Amino acid sequence: MIRTGLPAALILTLSLITTAYAADKPADTVYRNGYVYTVDAKDSVQQALAVRGGRIVYVGDNDGVKALTGKKTEVIDLQGRMLMPGLIDGHMHPQSGGSRLLNCSLNYEPLTVAQFQSRIQTCLDRDKKSGPERWMIVVNWFQQGMLPDGVDTTAATLDALKTDRPIIVRSSFGHSALLNTKGVQTAKITRDTPDPAGGKITRDAKGNATGLLEDAAQDLAMNLLPPLTVAENLAASKAALAAMRQQGITTFLDAYTDPETMTAFTDLQKQGKLTARAHFAVLIDLDKGATPQSAVAELLKQQKQFDQGPTRVAPSMQVRHAKLFMDGVISAPAFTGAMIEPYLTNKGTPEKPDWQPGPHNGPPSYFTPEALRTTLKELARAHIDPHIHVDGDRAVRESLDAIEDLRATPEGKRVRPALAHDEIVDPADYPRFAQLDVTPVLSFQWAKPAPDTVGALKDYMGPRRYAVVEPQALLLNAGARIAYGSDWPVDPLDEWFALKVGVTRTAAPDAGKEYAGRLTAQPGMPRAEVLRAITLNAAYTLRQEKDSGSLEVGKLADMIVLDRNFFTIPAEDIANIKVLLTVVGGKIVYQSKFMR
Ligand SMILES: [Zn+2]
Repeated sequence: MIRTGLPAALILTLSLITTAYAADKPADTVYRNGYVYTVDAKDSVQQALAVRGGRIVYVGDNDGVKALTGKKTEVIDLQGRMLMPGLIDGHMHPQSGGSRLLNCSLNYEPLTVAQFQSRIQTCLDRDKKSGPERWMIVVNWFQQGMLPDGVDTTAATLDALKTDRPIIVRSSFGHSALLNTKGVQTAKITRDTPDPAGGKITRDAKGNATGLLEDAAQDLAMNLLPPLTVAENLAASKAALAAMRQQGITTFLDAYTDPETMTAFTDLQKQGKLTARAHFAVLIDLDKGATPQSAVAELLKQQKQFDQGPTRVAPSMQVRHAKLFMDGVISAPAFTGAMIEPYLTNKGTPEKPDWQPGPHNGPPSYFTPEALRTTLKELARAHIDPHIHVDGDRAVRESLDAIEDLRATPEGKRVRPALAHDEIVDPADYPRFAQLDVTPVLSFQWAKPAPDTVGALKDYMGPRRYAVVEPQALLLNAGARIAYGSDWPVDPLDEWFALKVGVTRTAAPDAGKEYAGRLTAQPGMPRAEVLRAITLNAAYTLRQEKDSGSLEVGKLADMIVLDRNFFTIPAEDIANIKVLLTVVGGKIVYQSKFMR
């Protein structure tokens, strides 16, 4: 509160006055009779909390809060319920999440080819207005979950549908897209079209495109899709914020933004409808002739246009992050994750498999070591924190190597680098996260037996590597500061299910018996660490830890009330937690009908 430039003695006097004044003046709102889980340094549990002017002015017991309870103070009796810091989602894609809530969606479900076809046909039949040139966009395709395991989907699968329209089906992972033949033609993809940098056109034995596009190759079709209109962008942002409030998310990072998204959120912010603190990471992409310098300059231009300055009580927008992609995804059939050693292939038969090292270990990393080093230094100079997509162990290692160099420079010391995903990390690299102060941002919900782990990862990795996939507790035990990011809409937005998996490493009870039990022999994370990852540690990656992430005096009143106690219920029940109340800057932005 007190700015620098004042003599020390005066600062002391002023702060004493401020404290005395603070203690006497009644609070706006008092929460009492609660299980107030603070996420302070000791993870202490208190009974009561008071808020004034959007900030926390008291955390302690019921007796102590009486002094702050005046005639006009609103008193909320928590009736023993758990109050905790609001969730901070350190990696998500709110705009595509929100807009997918408005598209033809396959809902992340495992589908047979027949079901896949009939679902899309239903969408086509419903949309009678669109002409034969209009793309049908299908989203949330659980590509790894197609049934039976390993079944092929190609343009022919979609050509069987009754339509003249080009179709694009986007995998929920965001790393592949399937086109029908009309789509392939519309995108002008022929056997002579080269693979773009950072992408792959899947081809058959004769060299013809099969319809499946990986990573950057998706742009051949995606660039042809009509951009969302201003109204659609606004609708997507609104839908995203509504979903977040209900889950208890009070701050998020858009891990790959664009000006249209930031424009939509700016509009909502101006209307007072921004109900979460919004952070945006701008993509640094050295394709198309950009240099590290020009890419960072473009980022700063967007920052100038959209960043609204330091965190304040009412939610606002900050642009202080860069997004970089080092690779794609490690699971089949993409294999675009950059691995140290080759993916295995089956040199036997389906009945008598013989898994041996295959011909490749994923693509070259999307940044060369030299380009990554230069880019990180440029970003550090511009006070921008890098948020790097790394899925395979080689992408992780190369990023850590570049950060090690960065740390040796004066501007590199203050950087807060985050490595997102880290699905597989070579054990030799575990301690480097703590040594280099790099935060892994993990999606806990991936650490469960599922078609994309047991089905699309196990055999291709081999037993040694499979034993350490999704190394959440392994990194934690090596001293890393773990933060959480949902990566929505790669999965449905379900933070409480994700936190449950963080603890148990088990699938949902109704996932089927082939997915019963834990993912590998690795331990889950302790509950307190799981909550810290989605509160204070995620706040740290956003440079917001002095204002949020824990319930402590002076911090913003960003908090949630739960319908059951995260710490005392059986671990499986964590997935069923419902948020009753979401408070941002002291203001209630969501209240469930069950909160009396
Ligand atoms: Zn992501």
